[in-house]
Amino acid sequence: MPATMAAYPNLFRPLDLPGGVRLPNRILMGSMHTGLEARPDGMPRLAAFYAERARGGAALIVTGGFSPNDAGELSPHRAQMSTKEDAARHKVIPQAVHEAGGRIVLQVLHSGRYGFHERIVAPSPIKAGINQHAPRELSAPEIEQTIGDFVRAAVLAQTAGYDGVEIMGSEGYLITQFLALRTNQRADQWGGSLENRMRFACEVVRQTRTATGPEFIIVYRISALDLVEGGLTGEEIVTVAKAIEKAGASLLNTGIGWHEARIPTIAQAVPRAGFSWATRRIKQAVKIPTVASNRINAPETAEDLLARGDADMVSLARAMLSDAEFANKAKAGDRAGINICIACNQACLDHYFIGQPASCVVNPRAGRESKLVYTKTPARKRIAVVGGGPAGLSCAAVAGERGHEVVLFEKASELGGQFNLARRIPGKQEFAESVAYYAERLRRAGVKVLLDHAATQAELDGFDEVVLASGIDPRQPAIPGIENPKVVGYVDVLTGKVAVGANVAIIGAGGIGFDVAVWLLERNARSTLETKAFSHHWGIDESLANAGGLDPGGLPAAKPAHRITMLKRSTTAFGSTLGRTTGWVHRAELARNGVKMLKGVEYRRIDDAGLHIAVDGKEQVIAADTIILCAGQEPKRELKAAHLIGGAKEAGELDAKRAMLEGAELAARL
Ligand code: FAD
Ligand code: NAP
Ligand code: SF4
Repeated sequence: MPATMAAYPNLFRPLDLPGGVRLPNRILMGSMHTGLEARPDGMPRLAAFYAERARGGAALIVTGGFSPNDAGELSPHRAQMSTKEDAARHKVIPQAVHEAGGRIVLQVLHSGRYGFHERIVAPSPIKAGINQHAPRELSAPEIEQTIGDFVRAAVLAQTAGYDGVEIMGSEGYLITQFLALRTNQRADQWGGSLENRMRFACEVVRQTRTATGPEFIIVYRISALDLVEGGLTGEEIVTVAKAIEKAGASLLNTGIGWHEARIPTIAQAVPRAGFSWATRRIKQAVKIPTVASNRINAPETAEDLLARGDADMVSLARAMLSDAEFANKAKAGDRAGINICIACNQACLDHYFIGQPASCVVNPRAGRESKLVYTKTPARKRIAVVGGGPAGLSCAAVAGERGHEVVLFEKASELGGQFNLARRIPGKQEFAESVAYYAERLRRAGVKVLLDHAATQAELDGFDEVVLASGIDPRQPAIPGIENPKVVGYVDVLTGKVAVGANVAIIGAGGIGFDVAVWLLERNARSTLETKAFSHHWGIDESLANAGGLDPGGLPAAKPAHRITMLKRSTTAFGSTLGRTTGWVHRAELARNGVKMLKGVEYRRIDDAGLHIAVDGKEQVIAADTIILCAGQEPKRELKAAHLIGGAKEAGELDAKRAMLEGAELAARL
């Protein structure tokens, strides 16, 4: 056996499903909204996207959600599997995946009360806190009809060539709404006892099995942990799992938390495989294979959870966006070659909410497979890249891989730029993975890396192309008294160069202001990336004795080491520039730790008494021992170059997503 097989033996064992299907390994590509499902050109683009992941070695792929009918749509845009025409349009997807040697199932998702449109329905007419629309209550005949619609979707998927379906029974969508008392207050045969509440899910599976035959793969996505009040207990979840097995499911995939849960389930704050214990409870109760999901982003994480018997298979969704070749590389033992998902959500899930197709911060090619193509260069050039932050790393890697002779100058002693600050923030430790991955790519591409080497204009003269990726300088606001020793910059704080007093004022409330506050509050906490500590911190009761798996004692009391006041001049909501799907986690942490937030602030002066400000014309003093500047950034352009990327090009609205994309796009053209 090659040494590489020994690295992840459990991950690369075949898996037999009921019905006779043998999967070559234990990697399932989990369902993700790609933003292409409802687009007119969506099907061929999805076909290319999934085929690339099938070639990458995923044993089974699950598509994004398609609704079985009108009412179940997630958004006002049609993404359905309800007509013969839908089935015909879909054909290119399974065809492309099969040609690439993979298998693919269609996810059938009825949004219930979560749909963002006015036609939504639910077991009971109870509005979700995260939706402005209230659902209409389904009548008993409509419930039967909806089950029929699920079955029709599965049959149509079968005619389109899919290997099966995934029935979406988690995350708070319609099926979960039937299961939980929180959302099901019916008095008929579809409500009341658990037997009645799970009838809908069981009938969908049972009738789908009858209509599609024994070999068709039926994945059922079960909510292994609801994380909402009025959700199911552990015992009830196990009862549902057994009933779904009996109804004819081939595989139990697990989902964690309803979308309205106020506990992070996939954000950076969640430890790797931080919920696989919830899958283990189900695995111990059923005979069909189970799949663990959420924050499984590295092969060793997947291998460990399989080895300790938490699940039979792992679901990787974002990890397949950041690296389509994840499975093949893991199989070959090439851990260093895997582009690890850093769980930022910035270009995948956040894009869904702004109507943009999913991509990936650390892999700008994702979702741009046919547009951003890296071809071998016909004319090898000498290229200098100044700066080894995200922009420079991305540019130098692609340029080198295309066959150019690339020299990367980095004045610091290590590559990574601001990622070396970001990775110090509790929860952002994964950023170190990206730096290591890109450093490895540079090595393999033969890029010459000069560390501790500030480039000078003279040495850049001999190159055919010069790319300035020198990043930014932190902004020094013009506030009288700014030279006071109380005033420090965020770089010196995060690198531990300065001590921070008990009373802290943070000037600026952008991404870095929030991160600095989180660092101050949590840097000394017990590892937040340890599952037990995470569960305790967020009030999760792993015994699942109570509804939803919530600890009845609530969240443990915060013991902040600093009293923090965050300030900004504008009057927009605090945290409005943070990620759509992750910003709330930071806001919740800061609120829990009593961080005071002042907006509409005028900075008057700084002296030994502290920071003098005015809000609505009223003066006050923030008696801070330490005043930390997080007031934005200015481009760093000490050198002349034909090409500017990342912060060196434009510091406003800069993030790693833009920096890496600009680097890759430029390198593809050079
Ligand atoms: P930089 O990362 O600043 O890199 C520039 C590099 O150029 C540096 O390494 C510098 O040493 C080098 N350099 C400068 N001059 C020279 C010279 N003359 N010769 C050689 N080398 C030179 N972004 C996100 O998208 N998501 C986040 O969650 C996130 N969190 C962050 C948290 C913190 C605490 C910080 C500080 C930033 C965070 N960012 C985040 C922002 C992100 O890191 C930046 O947008 C990104 O690093 C910008 O990339 P860049 O390559 O343009 O510049
Ligand atoms: P930022 O998001 O632009 O925030 C800068 C802050 O400084 C704002 O709150 C601004 O508020 C304030 N400010 C600007 N000019 C000022 C001045 N002259 N005097 C006083 N205050 C001033 O920038 P950042 O926090 O430095 O972050 C840099 C980039 O990194 C961001 O664009 C961000 O996308 C990225 N980042 C992202 C994350 C993430 O979690 N996604 C985390 C960290 C960083 P007022 O103008 O209202 O005072
Ligand atoms: Fe992962 Fe961030 Fe890429 Fe999404 S954008 S796949 S969370 S690294």
